[in-house]
Amino acid sequence: MNKENSLHDLVRFSRLLYDRHLVHAEGGNTSIRIGNEIWITQTGTVLGRLTENDLTRLSLNGELLSGGKPSKEWPMHLAFYHARPQAGAVIHIHPTYSIAYSTLLDEPSLDAVPAYTSALYRRAGRVPMIDYYPVGSPELHQAVSALAPYFYAILMKQHGITVAAPDLATAIGIIEEIEQCCHIALLTNGKGIPITPAEKDAIDKRQGRTWPETLP
Ligand SMILES: [Zn+2]
Repeated sequence: MNKENSLHDLVRFSRLLYDRHLVHAEGGNTSIRIGNEIWITQTGTVLGRLTENDLTRLSLNGELLSGGKPSKEWPMHLAFYHARPQAGAVIHIHPTYSIAYSTLLDEPSLDAVPAYTSALYRRAGRVPMIDYYPVGSPELHQAVSALAPYFYAILMKQHGITVAAPDLATAIGIIEEIEQCCHIALLTNGKGIPITPAEKDAIDKRQGRTWPETLP
């Protein structure tokens, strides 16, 4: 895909997130990688009204190459791009049910979102939750960086979700599965029964992936 089409897609998918109520007001930020450069939404941008003029170009080291001030969560995006060489898109948003569910969990966890559907597990695998940290803080960046090499998606307590994927469509699919399972957890008062460990093992085996039980 050429650069113009990629930027057009970033705008189109970002607006879609807003239209589907997965983020509101000035929340959320999105980015794509084109070669060795990152295109990311600017600070204070409303994703529902995003245009290509609201995008900023960064180097993989975080140097500003062109455009206005990037989202203050830009270090989180770079952490994923550095940890996951296959990642072509990173989305950070504030979906209501995922945040609601996160407020019910006491502790950070490496397997926080119950896989009520095999689709969640196929697309997202295990989804860890980090503790609450202030937006844009070094602590938040550090917590995301520690998990980014091992997971596609991270639930951020009382804040939202950050996902990395090869492309925007895949990233949105992962977000929708997480949001649905968090919604189901709330609807079933946490009493729903997830897919079995054997089913999870079979999916992991097919996809050739493993998960850390503890962080190194
Ligand atoms: Zn946020």
